[in-house]
Amino acid sequence: MTAQLVPRGKEDSQPSPQLIYVDGVMVPHGEATIHVSSVAAKFGANAFEGLCAYAGEDGQSYVFRLREHLARLHRSVQAMEIDWDRSDEECQAAVLMSLRENGIRGDAHLRLSVFITGDGMCDTRGPASLVCVAKARKPAPLDTKVADAAVTSWRRIDDQVMPPRVKAGPNYFNSRYGLLEARRNGYDEAIFLTLTGKVSEGANCCFAMVRDGVLATPSVTSGVLESITRSTLLQLAEEDLGLRVQEREIDRSELYAADEAFFCGSAQEVRPVLSVDRFQVGDGRIGPVTRHLWAAYESAVRGRNEARRGWLTPVWPPVRR
Ligand code: PMP
Repeated sequence: MTAQLVPRGKEDSQPSPQLIYVDGVMVPHGEATIHVSSVAAKFGANAFEGLCAYAGEDGQSYVFRLREHLARLHRSVQAMEIDWDRSDEECQAAVLMSLRENGIRGDAHLRLSVFITGDGMCDTRGPASLVCVAKARKPAPLDTKVADAAVTSWRRIDDQVMPPRVKAGPNYFNSRYGLLEARRNGYDEAIFLTLTGKVSEGANCCFAMVRDGVLATPSVTSGVLESITRSTLLQLAEEDLGLRVQEREIDRSELYAADEAFFCGSAQEVRPVLSVDRFQVGDGRIGPVTRHLWAAYESAVRGRNEARRGWLTPVWPPVRR
């Protein structure tokens, strides 16, 4: 069987890297495969992280909040009872090798995954492999990322069914149903509600809105992934921009009363929402709080905010002079 690697969806248009990290070695793209009988192929058994690297203005590039991504990967693996326990050093090496050996010096998106490669059933725990795919990507200005969103008729998976705070591959079938429904109906993105009808998050991202100058986002018990971008933006909003911030339940009707709204996530960064269910958000343009938050986020990821340099891991070794 020949692997069909050309994507047919709207996403994933970045070029594939030549080399992919698999368990300590870089292998050619076409050789990074898993067996059809693996638990990963049969049941989607994988935990993963999506994270980004950014070019700084100093010639260095940086992985953003690597420590937090690795901590979440370990939590997901533990929750899914996958037999895999590698050190953070090894995972960090996977990320840095993937960028360095593909010669990626600019911005990049990386997917770091733990797959159950062993043959078995849905209760098989291992063996498992660590894989990292790094793809170069271009910076996307805020104005090019605007979205018209729809509340999907599918509900967000509930913690009593499939824990949404675990970043497990199979959870994304919930995202898929909502996103495909939204796209079929002419929208860019889906907003999921919880089983009790409160706002949860987007298909691959968290959701936040501004009402009367207050930044509000569903709390981590509203079926959201414990997003690193979400907590970064909340911290920047509160500490650097002096905004009032609320993590709380959000009603559907508040979506239609918001002054500003946006999605956020490592890949999407900040994505302004200009309408929900064809109701215009605010004046239908990107709002000032969204712009300020994006500027603060961009400064942090590119190393321009001295106080936030602790969030960055340099990709390249220091040059000896
Ligand atoms: N929710 C879901 C379902 C996601 O897939 C993502 C992207 N990882 C997010 C939220 C945002 O999480 P993060 O900011 O950690 O990328």
